[in-house]
Amino acid sequence: MELIQNFINGEFASPQDGKYLDGFNPATGKVYSRVPDSRDVDVAMAVVAAKKAFPAWSKKTAEERAEYLYKIADLIDRDREKLALAESIDQGKPLSLARELDIPRASKNFRFFAGAILHTQEMSTTQGDTSLNYVLRQPVGVAGLIPPWNLPLYLLTWKIAPALAAGNTVVCKPSEFTSMTAFLLCSLIKEAGLPSGVCNIVFGTGEKAGAVLVDHPAVPLISFTGGTATGEKIYRASAANFKKISLELGGKNPNIIYDDADLSKAVPGTIRSSFLNQGEICVCGSRIFVQEGIYEKFLSEFKAETEKLIVGNPLDEKTFMGPLVSSSHLDKVMSSIEQARNEGAKIIFGGDRPKNLSNEFKDGYFLNPTIITELDRCSEIMQREIFGPVVTVTPFKYMKDVVEWANNVPYGLTATVWTTNLDRAHKTAAKLEVGTVWVNTWLKRDLRLPFGGMKASGIGREGGEFSLEFFTEAKTVTIGL
Ligand code: NAD
Repeated sequence: MELIQNFINGEFASPQDGKYLDGFNPATGKVYSRVPDSRDVDVAMAVVAAKKAFPAWSKKTAEERAEYLYKIADLIDRDREKLALAESIDQGKPLSLARELDIPRASKNFRFFAGAILHTQEMSTTQGDTSLNYVLRQPVGVAGLIPPWNLPLYLLTWKIAPALAAGNTVVCKPSEFTSMTAFLLCSLIKEAGLPSGVCNIVFGTGEKAGAVLVDHPAVPLISFTGGTATGEKIYRASAANFKKISLELGGKNPNIIYDDADLSKAVPGTIRSSFLNQGEICVCGSRIFVQEGIYEKFLSEFKAETEKLIVGNPLDEKTFMGPLVSSSHLDKVMSSIEQARNEGAKIIFGGDRPKNLSNEFKDGYFLNPTIITELDRCSEIMQREIFGPVVTVTPFKYMKDVVEWANNVPYGLTATVWTTNLDRAHKTAAKLEVGTVWVNTWLKRDLRLPFGGMKASGIGREGGEFSLEFFTEAKTVTIGL
């Protein structure tokens, strides 16, 4: 049994009242770790430590802060295999994906923001007739960071790295479903010699630990990534203290395939955007719209490729999809499929659990990739995020219709467009109400560029100078001449 501990003021600590949650291996359905069930006192201790560490950390030079971040990045790279294995066991994602995507991106996050603070020109100046004006960018203080379970280390480090780079100290509350790699990161942070209290990690539930962090008066900034309903709660709670807030929330992302698309790229691209990480990526394209002329051809090729996907042991190199993260999430996704069935939709592939799993995995939270057709565009299943390996496929005739349908959801996170017609690509991208549009590709990220959502998909943007701006306060200084 793996015992996870809080990391407060540079030391590992049990939760104050000694309570732990069960941590499950989603592939076997068995308990394999104990996760601190932290509460207000634990969060308060972490905030005190972060507050105490803030003056010294914020006074360090950018070069000094960058040195620490580079060191942490190197240590993540050194332990890539160990971290990838831990992420796969804890979250359910294939080991190969954790090794190629999650862990390299975690070290890249530290390296990227270490470089960013060394190369970003922070100060802007203007000169008027009677004054010289300049803007200071100063760290905000103790940052509260709350990531979700789908890309555990990747998204946690996407918050820690810019927060520390900008001179803040942090208290993090990882998802109670996936605490393991955050715990392993604590040891690397200690090994890198980061001063005590600069980065604190408290484990536990959203209700008992996360909400306390959001409410804490000594935490002036909250960076949250997770579900839209939780985001709304956090937004409301933060209003009481006028906190700086960044919300990266859910999506119901459209994937538009025009009849001139190169299907040799659009089909494998859509397989990835539908089912990578079991469809548990906020940017997965869950609503596929295909132009009438190629609808049948696309559907049969897409189905044929989906049939080939291997679902099973996440540690097996051939596996494309592991289990979903938890039994409650599996139930939620299965009930959405049932609802689609009841509404008269056709399940043309999947919708059930794999039948050929060995005994070891029979209690795991596996689900086959699922393709749904003939569902009403306005049905709840096409409006609400499912966050699993479930896609709907719908034909369309005209650009104006597909753009209207794509936009007609509460969310606005990302969209993907497949076309070889440049004019269509530009026109469609300009009209979509989303934060990111990928054309003839998916999931490519230039970390300098803004990432975030419109509407119920979030508030604010992260990435490069957008993150550094969020994690600092701008102060205008005007000197009379
Ligand atoms: P969630 O909202 O249930 O939980 C996210 C985090 O918030 C967890 O750490 C949880 O413990 C904490 N939390 C829960 N209630 C809280 C409260 N009242 N106060 C403070 N913290 C609280 O989300 P999830 O199920 O972990 O993640 C899946 C969701 O995340 C999906 O909707 C997905 O689209 C979204 N997501 C969005 C992005 C993005 O960049 N927009 C990226 C990844 C995931």
